[in-house]
Amino acid sequence: MFALRSTEMAERLETQVSTSAITEKRRDSLMGSYLSRTCCIVGGGPAGMMLGYLLARAGIEVQILEKHADFLHDFRGDTVHPSTLELMHELGVLEDLLTLPHQRVTKVRARIGGDEIVLNDMAYLRTHCKFLVLMPQWHFLNFLATQGCRFPTFHLQMQTEAKTLIEENGQVAGIRAVAADGPVEIRADLVVSADGRSSVLRERAGLVVDEMNADIDLLWMRLSKHLDDPDFWIHAQRGKPLVTLDRGEYWQCGLVIPKGSAPEMQVKGAEGLRASIVERAPFLSDRISEVRDWNDAKLLKVKVDRLRRWYRPGLICIGDAAHAMSPVGGVGINLAVQDAVAAANILARPLREGALRTSHLAKIQRRREFAAKHTQRVQGVILRHLTADRRAPWPIRLLEATTLLRRLRTRFVCIGVRPEHVETPDAFKVRSLGRRSQVVAAERKEKLRV
Ligand SMILES: Cc1cc2nc3c(=O)[nH]c(=O)nc-3n(C[C@H](O)[C@H](O)[C@H](O)COP(=O)(O)OP(=O)(O)OC[C@H]3O[C@@H](n4cnc5c(N)ncnc54)[C@H](O)[C@@H]3O)c2cc1C
Repeated sequence: MFALRSTEMAERLETQVSTSAITEKRRDSLMGSYLSRTCCIVGGGPAGMMLGYLLARAGIEVQILEKHADFLHDFRGDTVHPSTLELMHELGVLEDLLTLPHQRVTKVRARIGGDEIVLNDMAYLRTHCKFLVLMPQWHFLNFLATQGCRFPTFHLQMQTEAKTLIEENGQVAGIRAVAADGPVEIRADLVVSADGRSSVLRERAGLVVDEMNADIDLLWMRLSKHLDDPDFWIHAQRGKPLVTLDRGEYWQCGLVIPKGSAPEMQVKGAEGLRASIVERAPFLSDRISEVRDWNDAKLLKVKVDRLRRWYRPGLICIGDAAHAMSPVGGVGINLAVQDAVAAANILARPLREGALRTSHLAKIQRRREFAAKHTQRVQGVILRHLTADRRAPWPIRLLEATTLLRRLRTRFVCIGVRPEHVETPDAFKVRSLGRRSQVVAAERKEKLRV
């Protein structure tokens, strides 16, 4: 695991405190072992938190369950792309989000073999933020939780793990979960499986998964950053890439390795690991001793798959639960958020009116499947070439040919296919006042079916 620095430790502690405050504030909501909500979302990742926030904001009673006690999963790159920042702008909370610790990136550059390429130059995007943000996921998720908590219809329960589906007459009618203080049963008009790439609910629902070849795994570690270091996100030599994300004081390094090769590398010891990093990025040789042993590296197994059908009556899967994304382009969080926005746009009215039909769930898949499929395909092509070529992959070089193609590439990564916009209403007319945001009016609540 990464060794934590004291500032980061303090930040994490602060997040932990505010997460438990949120949980505490809503603890009353899950008292007892039986509960009824309009919508129950399983999984407090980007997909689940965003959907919960939007539905609660639209006046729908939402219960989110997250199996961990906090959002402090040290497991991913933490890119928040311009498309997600644009959604925050639409929701009126962008300024609040940007008060949290983050790094801004306006250009993503790569050194691949002998080629130096600007992969994305965000100056030309037609968005409020012409940059992407590197923000620890615990801050981003905690922010969504804090925003959601401004609405009385938002209920988040941490440390509660969904185990099985409740089914009645061929329809999903709720879930059974285990909370810190015992078993819980939640009945809902709709269950949303946003429980990530190892989704239990999609398995329990018997949904068919198409697995795609993910030929790589990733070893994450950190190395200190020096002022005169080259500013590249990707260093690749002879088809062996290393990702270096600028986290201010340090580089978050992702060593791309062939799938399943970690145990073999581990047998060879930390010396081999250090050599692999320096081979790809020689400038790191003067500090490579900071990788002391294998405990300084964290293995992330990459998985890419897609559900054939994302739904059953009473159940819909979104985010990685519907389509597990590879880390290429760092777009998975943003796709999960886009799924959530599309789902909220389609679901808010029928959920509010008690008129949800399976055709609404099919509409979500139709709306989002193309984006997921297309993105996974392009990720696959880039990865295959990145790990095979001595030079930059031909699709990337091809896109270097003209300004238009370069801008299309930037748009594909930073905005994505079929960008979504928030169409759901703010049923409570809440003003965002940062962390001290409050509900200022709830006039419309009584008109809604809650
Ligand atoms: C190595 C690697 C690096 C990546 N880097 C990036 C990156 O830099 N940028 C990017 O945009 N994407 C990245 N991704 C992809 C991205 O992390 C995912 O696509 C994204 O997190 C999906 O969001 P989600 O909400 O669908 O699922 P998740 O983020 O996986 O969230 C699911 C949540 O559900 C909870 N949960 C699971 N089961 C249960 C249960 N039974 N009951 C209750 N809760 C449950 C989990 O604890 C988790 O909090 C990376 C992926 C990998 C593998």
